[in-house]
Amino acid sequence: MPIRKLSSRLVSQITAGEVVERPSAVVKELVENSLDAGARSVRVQVEEGGRRSIVVTDDGCGIPRDELALALARHATSKLARAEDLQRLGTLGFRGEALPSIAVVSRLRLTSAAAGAERGCSIAGDHADAAPEPRAHPPGTTVEVRDLFYNTPARRKFLRAPATEWKHIAGVLRGLGLGRLDVGFEAHHNGRRLLRYPPVGEGVPERARLDAVLGREFVEQSVFCEAAADGMRLSGWIGLPTYSRSQADQQHFYVNGRAVRDKLIAHAVRQGYADVLYGGRHPCYVLYLELPPAAVDVNVHPAKTEVRFREARAVHRLLADGVARGVAGVRPADAGHAAERFRPLVNENPAARPAAMPLPPAPAADMPRAAAGTDRPAAAPAAAGEDGALPPLGLARAQLHDIYILAENAQGLVLVDMHAAHERVTYERLKAGHAADGVRSQPLLVPQTLRLSPEEAACLEEHGARLAEWGLEAELSGPDTACVRALPSLLAHADAGALLRDVLADLSARGGSERVREREHELLSSLACHGAVRAKMRLTVAEMDALLRDMEATERAGQCNHGRPTWVQLSIDQLDKLFLRGR
Ligand code: ADP
Ligand code: MG
Repeated sequence: MPIRKLSSRLVSQITAGEVVERPSAVVKELVENSLDAGARSVRVQVEEGGRRSIVVTDDGCGIPRDELALALARHATSKLARAEDLQRLGTLGFRGEALPSIAVVSRLRLTSAAAGAERGCSIAGDHADAAPEPRAHPPGTTVEVRDLFYNTPARRKFLRAPATEWKHIAGVLRGLGLGRLDVGFEAHHNGRRLLRYPPVGEGVPERARLDAVLGREFVEQSVFCEAAADGMRLSGWIGLPTYSRSQADQQHFYVNGRAVRDKLIAHAVRQGYADVLYGGRHPCYVLYLELPPAAVDVNVHPAKTEVRFREARAVHRLLADGVARGVAGVRPADAGHAAERFRPLVNENPAARPAAMPLPPAPAADMPRAAAGTDRPAAAPAAAGEDGALPPLGLARAQLHDIYILAENAQGLVLVDMHAAHERVTYERLKAGHAADGVRSQPLLVPQTLRLSPEEAACLEEHGARLAEWGLEAELSGPDTACVRALPSLLAHADAGALLRDVLADLSARGGSERVREREHELLSSLACHGAVRAKMRLTVAEMDALLRDMEATERAGQCNHGRPTWVQLSIDQLDKLFLRGR
């Protein structure tokens, strides 16, 4: 065949393949247009999963009559005039491709009334040359898309059941609804309203909106987080480490209002959770990054979900540090208050929920650190605070099965997993000691000798110096024997032989020295785990109180190093409910 220019209709059909993958993509493009038009509220009506019809109505700026046909033309946009504009895009759209692409694979009608226009006008997608006909419409725009893929059977075959397509649409709306908390959304499927997001404003705080979009659990299990550096600002909500998921399905990230999925971002956020999230767990978050438009290139992919940062390193640093600080801010005092403040929401009829919800507590200011202790929590006076108030985690009342501490605080009952809590406190101290002048060690009165396997011996030979930095002094005293001379003073009462063996096993599982340096914190954490009070150890009330006070003063004390919770609060209300009191 000779070379020839494709007709513009054929070009649109090809582009449509990229832009309009399935009904949810149509919804995304149309709602983005509504948002770009400054809409305060957007309504989406879908029939049969979008195959039969998708209608999006907004109260945005509308389109003047003489531009209506142009809106359906390829590469026609009001969002971009010069090449330089590409450097400072403030809108979600800019390619001028969505409407014409949708129009070639469906029966499309565009109806609009610009502000101040006497009446609305309407035009059908396949009659772009025809004059718009008058049609009543309030200020704003309605786009009707019927019989999607009627002329592209290949695509139609890939459509799933209406319920599945609706799920994709709901997912798209969730993403858009989190991106613009100030805009109201509602959506109907087959005539039933399935989704309503009230706009943030009077009587609707951000948390209420989050509740409507992501559900109550996220609201209760997340904290607000904020950071700024290098002319950029990060803000949003991050899930508690104990609220992690097995899938990366609750991660919402916005760059200047645009939903973005990006490896760099995912990696940085994950790093922020490094100390508290292990294995295959995924954090949940809704985060907003704002930076000068010139610092980010959004023109990377037709779907516009990828971006390129000019200063990728600075972005990575801001995210990792900001999230890490947010996570560190989760201390018993904060979380306790959060639990208390959100208490009215638990087990209540959603309809009866108060409209106003309090904002989450800001990350706490640094609290003085407890003095370094030993492996057994030191005894501390079990007194109430100076003003007679109970401390955040309360006073110890009993120990259960040598595993759990029961404490009484202002809200009710606090249950503490002793081992998990001690492990976290020890780890944070080991880390702090390591970062300062090295972990302090305490010589054993009688050095302990133990037999090693050849692998263990080789591992000790390779990593002995590093272990000494961590306060664990051990050396080979024969081809298959080792001698432990000192332990980290935080772990002075641990079983020296068992501790060395555990750490050597961890070290050989990690491989070479390079990796060990990278994984130093992980190894300190396993040291803390092996050395922390084992479950099944009887503590005195004073020792238990000392551990509670240590937890209050320790960053990230809400979860152990493996992301399991270290304590839970049972409020008097919850206890009352157990006994059907006050009903
Ligand atoms: P783009 O969004 O990339 O500009 P589209 O094909 O999505 O391209 O839309 C083309 C133009 O039509 C937009 O630039 C805008 O001027 C206009 N338009 C589309 N939808 C709306 C709407 N809901 N309200 C007002 N104007 C709209
Ligand atoms: Mg658009």
